[in-house]
Amino acid sequence: MNVAGFFVFFTVSFFLAKWCLIFICNCAIELWVFFCQNSFVKEFFATLVDVEEIAPGIKFFDFQLHEDSRDFSFSTGQFISVRVGPQVFRAYSLCTCRKDLPRFSLVIKLIPGGIGSTFFDKLQPGQQIPFQGPFGLMQLDQDVESGGAIFIATGVGIAPMRAFWRQLFSGKKATGQFDLFFGFRHESDGIFLPEIFALQEEFSENFHVTLCVSKPLDTLPPNFQLGRVTAALGGKPEEFFTNRKIFLCGSRQMVEQVKEILQAKGVDRANIFQEIY
Ligand SMILES: Cc1cc2nc3c(=O)[nH]c(=O)nc-3n(C[C@H](O)[C@H](O)[C@H](O)COP(=O)(O)OP(=O)(O)OC[C@H]3O[C@@H](n4cnc5c(N)ncnc54)[C@H](O)[C@@H]3O)c2cc1C
Repeated sequence: MNVAGFFVFFTVSFFLAKWCLIFICNCAIELWVFFCQNSFVKEFFATLVDVEEIAPGIKFFDFQLHEDSRDFSFSTGQFISVRVGPQVFRAYSLCTCRKDLPRFSLVIKLIPGGIGSTFFDKLQPGQQIPFQGPFGLMQLDQDVESGGAIFIATGVGIAPMRAFWRQLFSGKKATGQFDLFFGFRHESDGIFLPEIFALQEEFSENFHVTLCVSKPLDTLPPNFQLGRVTAALGGKPEEFFTNRKIFLCGSRQMVEQVKEILQAKGVDRANIFQEIY
């Protein structure tokens, strides 16, 4: 084979190999999606017990597991994938912890016209949801209880954080230092505030809260701060973040901006756990 022949052979083989690899990867992804969303993965069922609008366009849903779904379990901070239509799934963080089972709750921002939002908006007490799970790597480990953590959330991203503080502070006292940064647009968008204030009062030594309102409609009370969580975090010294686990949940933009700040503060990536909505 001359040089030109070898070159043609090499080029054709290279592209064939490349397309084969892409084809195999695509098949693997399709199989994985099929595996995750179909009958190979156990489907659980829960009945809606109660629903309440806790802020404009945000509803809190309280569920009870069916008798035949009582083997469902999860680690605090994980999410479930709810079948909101034929072959349509949406992820929702559990805002309760394992010890609350067989009850669990979800907090959902209803997006007008959204498939999952419409499904949940129409859901009435007594009706059931099919779901799979649990999923997600954002979980508390044992070090957090004594070592403390920083929780950063915006909007309904507070859901897994609520699960965390319920696990850490109900029935016992976690000993580490915990800081919660919670951002929302208007005062009325701040959910779970009575619960947060009660914790802040009861555990004033080790549960500290910064509430950031980006677009207040009125004069802010003294325990609220004007601006975004990024501004509040940016003002903290490097030592504040040293050797602490950091849990982030909210929009992609918020998570990316916070991670940039954390990197600039010298935070080790291994200490950052995130969920993007
Ligand atoms: C791991 C994980 C956990 C999640 N946990 C929660 C949770 O606890 N609570 C919760 O409310 N959501 C949560 N979400 C988001 C949720 O899964 C849905 O993506 C969201 O509720 C929108 O779904 P939908 O079917 O109503 O809208 P879709 O039908 O998917 O979208 C309808 C329209 O709305 C737009 N849209 C989608 N999301 C948003 C948004 N956030 N803001 C504005 N417009 C949007 C879309 O671009 C589209 O144009 C989570 C997502 C992930 C990945």
